[in-house]
Amino acid sequence: MLNIVITGAPGSGKGTQSDLIVKNYGLHHISTGDMLRAEIKAGSEIGQLAEHIIADGKLVPDNVMIEMLHKQILEHKDAKGFIFDGFPRTVAQADALDKMLISMGEKIDILLVMNVKHETLVERLILRGQTSGRSDDNKETIEKRLAVYTENTLPVIEFYRQSNRLTEADNNTTVEDCFAQIKKIIDAHQ
Ligand code: AMP
Repeated sequence: MLNIVITGAPGSGKGTQSDLIVKNYGLHHISTGDMLRAEIKAGSEIGQLAEHIIADGKLVPDNVMIEMLHKQILEHKDAKGFIFDGFPRTVAQADALDKMLISMGEKIDILLVMNVKHETLVERLILRGQTSGRSDDNKETIEKRLAVYTENTLPVIEFYRQSNRLTEADNNTTVEDCFAQIKKIIDAHQ
């Protein structure tokens, strides 16, 4: 298996780059944000819980997210590998992901962080909000999401960086240029 975690602030291009990685390397894409939006659409119990949390720019509780992710992994355990997009967002989730993969005799092969300047993130998310229809792509919630990212997810990235597990891509650039950087990282690993 080839297992990749793609992380970075909201608006850093994780979804776009994940789609390109899936197209080029045939991995199974797990986007926890997409999964939650599907639950909301379906009106499920998880969806009802997540709806206000997402609109408010906060994080869905770890236990809910970890269980949801575990189920997805088990359902697709025959995949060539996974690209985890939007998970882990907390240290508890990072810990749980390591354990889940270890129990399958697997590990995270590539940890990729997307670096984008704060003002560019805000600009991109506001622009996306004009067409995405997402409840959280508005100025007030965007700032909240970026603050939640700094508080909860940056420590995860710092942890990976300190243990020398992190690779970085600069996405203050075009989709194509960023993907060229990512491709180099993946191809160097294989
Ligand atoms: P995303 O599409 O990844 O930007 O996620 C949209 C929203 O879904 C986030 O702002 C959170 O409210 C929620 N969410 C997605 N993934 C997670 C996660 N791993 N842990 C907690 N909440 C999450």
